[in-house]
Amino acid sequence: MALIVQKYGGTSMGTPERIKNVARRVAKWHAAGHQVIVVPSAMAGETNRLLGLAREISDRPDPRELDMIAATGEQVSVGLLAIALKALGVAARSYAGWQVPIRTDSSFTKARIEAIEATKVKGDLDADMVVIITGFQGVDEQSNITTLGRGGSDTSAVAVAAAFQARECLIFTDVDGVYTTDPRIVSEARRLKVISFEEMLELASLGSKVLQIRSVEFAGKYKVPTRVLSSLTDPLIPIEEEIRSGTLITFEEDEHMEQAVISGIAFNRDEGKITLLQVPDRPGVAFQILGPVAEANIDVDMIIQNQSVNGTTDFSFTVHRNELDKTLEVLERSVKNQIGAREIRADAKVAKVSAVGIGMRSHVGIAAQMFETLFNEGINIQMISTSEIKISVIIDDKYMELAVRALHKAFGLEQSE
Ligand code: ADP
Ligand code: ASP
Ligand code: MG
Repeated sequence: MALIVQKYGGTSMGTPERIKNVARRVAKWHAAGHQVIVVPSAMAGETNRLLGLAREISDRPDPRELDMIAATGEQVSVGLLAIALKALGVAARSYAGWQVPIRTDSSFTKARIEAIEATKVKGDLDADMVVIITGFQGVDEQSNITTLGRGGSDTSAVAVAAAFQARECLIFTDVDGVYTTDPRIVSEARRLKVISFEEMLELASLGSKVLQIRSVEFAGKYKVPTRVLSSLTDPLIPIEEEIRSGTLITFEEDEHMEQAVISGIAFNRDEGKITLLQVPDRPGVAFQILGPVAEANIDVDMIIQNQSVNGTTDFSFTVHRNELDKTLEVLERSVKNQIGAREIRADAKVAKVSAVGIGMRSHVGIAAQMFETLFNEGINIQMISTSEIKISVIIDDKYMELAVRALHKAFGLEQSE
């Protein structure tokens, strides 16, 4: 008997029939003698619908109120799943984040989990109940409801698994594992049986939305065995088979010996690029530009500064596309005149495409191969950044899918028959 955390995404919870299937799957695990904590997302499309309602009322809705609204989607899901389990004769109890409580900081719409209290949930598990906890939400010190950012139920699940020292965290979703790239974009994408924690962290941070980045961070920090698998299989398939399916995130590099140099291609359409033209090239300028941006709680991603010409230089960086306007405002207000930039330009039509693989550590020429592939497709590279195991480029977003397909092929990632 073990404690297992199971997370079910929006599609998996998308209809009453699917929720009944989730209940059948959970009941199977419970009947086999396991303790189960389930962390469901809102039903598919529901979070978008809720946030859309707020945006119909205001262009700039208060983030605290957005969280109040968005968190309701998950509350419906846990209630429905508890009812479905009870209908199968399984004792179950649902909790909203604040009831557990799952404590977070107060960064509305992107809060971080700080602590999870165990007492109530442990009591229910000991009483042989299935416990169902809302994904995506928590509560801050002032009792405000918070949410963890889009896709945040993954993080709730892994954090719960860490807090309760679960034997495994199973992330049930609408694909049967982590692929070499999004199978919706490249039909030849191949499922990986295992992926190293480091690669998964890069893929998630570079835009593969199969797992939210913070869930992978939690998995790494607390060494939570985490597996991504399909919720769309027969819910009654034998547990021994289920537990070997999908993709396991591994913390052991040697399980990985035979892998290719590149494991996957990630992409992200959510980037926006800001360029400050002709800023003086002197010490402190980067700090003067990015200091106010950081103070406004805006995450900066890629940064480049050109060679200086006649004492001035161009400075570009990217932020989340949703924060492009806010960033521009900050720069116009507190940076432009202070440092004397000639002009500030914003480009919302960019995308980031990245190749990831721990094999890059021992192979040279991967960057060149990537740039050649993009050149062969006539795609211009606007920005480049590299780390030990990834290369990312910013390109015009209209070429994003073309770039992903070309790179997937160039690095030999297609289905091997
Ligand atoms: P859920 O609602 O279950 O959280 P998501 O839509 O958030 O599901 O994540 C699953 C989706 O992630 C898949 O349907 C797939 O289109 C997308 N995806 C992106 N990159 C990958 C990848 N490398 N492997 C598998 N799926 C990916
Ligand atoms: N329901 C939330 C979202 O749509 C959280 C999640 O699905 O993980 O972003
Ligand atoms: Mg998700």
